[in-house]
Amino acid sequence: MLTRLELEGYLEGGTPFYSAYKFKPLVDMEQVLARVEGERRQFLRALFDFAKKGRVWFQLDPAQAVASVGGDRERIIRALDWLAEQELLEVQAGGVRNRYHRLRQAENPQALAEELHAYNLQRENAEVGRLQQVLDLFSLDDCRAASLAAHFGEILAEPCGQCSGCLGHTVPLPPRDAESIPEELGDRIQPTIAAADVLNTPRALARFLCGLSSPRLGRARIGKDPFFGTLAGVPFPTVLTWAEKHLISES
Ligand SMILES: [Zn+2]
Repeated sequence: MLTRLELEGYLEGGTPFYSAYKFKPLVDMEQVLARVEGERRQFLRALFDFAKKGRVWFQLDPAQAVASVGGDRERIIRALDWLAEQELLEVQAGGVRNRYHRLRQAENPQALAEELHAYNLQRENAEVGRLQQVLDLFSLDDCRAASLAAHFGEILAEPCGQCSGCLGHTVPLPPRDAESIPEELGDRIQPTIAAADVLNTPRALARFLCGLSSPRLGRARIGKDPFFGTLAGVPFPTVLTWAEKHLISES
């Protein structure tokens, strides 16, 4: 999605950076401080005071530390690197964050959102189609090499004679053991739909019932709801069709 916004000139990506550092002292903290003097010692002391102390590790976001420690982010990172080099601390960087600049505002955010949504649905279909092609390939009775070559636009003069298709070793794919949707779920789910205003589209409801989280569902904190994932054993398109019927009939 971000890549797409970048390609369309809305955003520009910058260099990713680490937002979470953690360190653990390899010697006594006072010994670490004793290695430097004056302002540098004050700086380190402030840094250690600012870091959140866990049982073993101290946690630190350098960008946040700047406000109370002073200096800038680079100085803090240089200090941590130096302490690690001196084998006074063990330092680990994590929490990679990507940076983006906004280059221009969308004139019509709603239209852009719909366009992106349509694009993602199209991609979802294409991906599902691709998976189906792989499954089709496996259940083929003829030469797989020939079929694969044909997919990439090449016609083999004759079957390869070595693949399981050619050797007659085809095994049928096991049927998908899909559960069915309980008859009374439509009624039982209504209070949940009414209580959570994020289940108001068929897709959101289907995701919820299949146990697929999304930022929107996550923010609504309904991942612990007993109905979350209750249809995890049912294919998503089936649940989506069901959700379309049940949302419309109630509204
Ligand atoms: Zn073959």
